[in-house]
Amino acid sequence: MTDIDCLVIGAGVIGLACAAQMARQGNSVMLVEQQCRIGPDVAWTQSLDYRVDKSLCEGFFYAIKRYFPSIDKKKLFPGYSGIRPKFSAPGQPAADFMIQGPEVYGLPGLVNLYGIESPGLTASLAIAQHVSRLSD
Ligand SMILES: Cc1cc2nc3c(=O)[nH]c(=O)nc-3n(C[C@H](O)[C@H](O)[C@H](O)COP(=O)(O)OP(=O)(O)OC[C@H]3O[C@@H](n4cnc5c(N)ncnc54)[C@H](O)[C@@H]3O)c2cc1C
Repeated sequence: MTDIDCLVIGAGVIGLACAAQMARQGNSVMLVEQQCRIGPDVAWTQSLDYRVDKSLCEGFFYAIKRYFPSIDKKKLFPGYSGIRPKFSAPGQPAADFMIQGPEVYGLPGLVNLYGIESPGLTASLAIAQHVSRLSD
């Protein structure tokens, strides 16, 4: 096996950021990931139905095949689904996110963050600093 300076396990947003930073500093980096996750996909819904529509696999297959030609359709399976409230309705321009602190609810330490798409909430230092100031 080749000598490496740094082994990063997990290619989520944090693993990718760590690996990129280590590489930027001149280290040789190996990044390992246990699975290949493709997506997400989004659709508007008005009902609380969390079942994943398996017919979507077909569209995913052809989309993935464009940059991963050896993809095996039999190995594709749905992950999970979730329902997220949005500020804007279908057909409207995307709305910006909103952060409300204790001044809105009158409760010290309560900060609500609305409408921030992944991984904005977990990866934005500016948002983290703002929330930290609000909750002081
Ligand atoms: C349904 C859902 C909705 C979310 N919505 C938002 C949102 O709107 N805004 C927001 O900011 N954040 C959101 N998050 C949170 C955000 O996605 C996570 O905080 C962020 O992805 C965490 O990144 P991570 O790199 O720490 O972990 P992950 O993204 O979980 O990455 C870890 C990786 O490590 C891999 N791994 C684990 N063990 C091993 C192993 N032994 N060997 C090899 N690989 C391994 C996993 O397969 C995975 O790919 C959401 C999360 C979920 C589940």
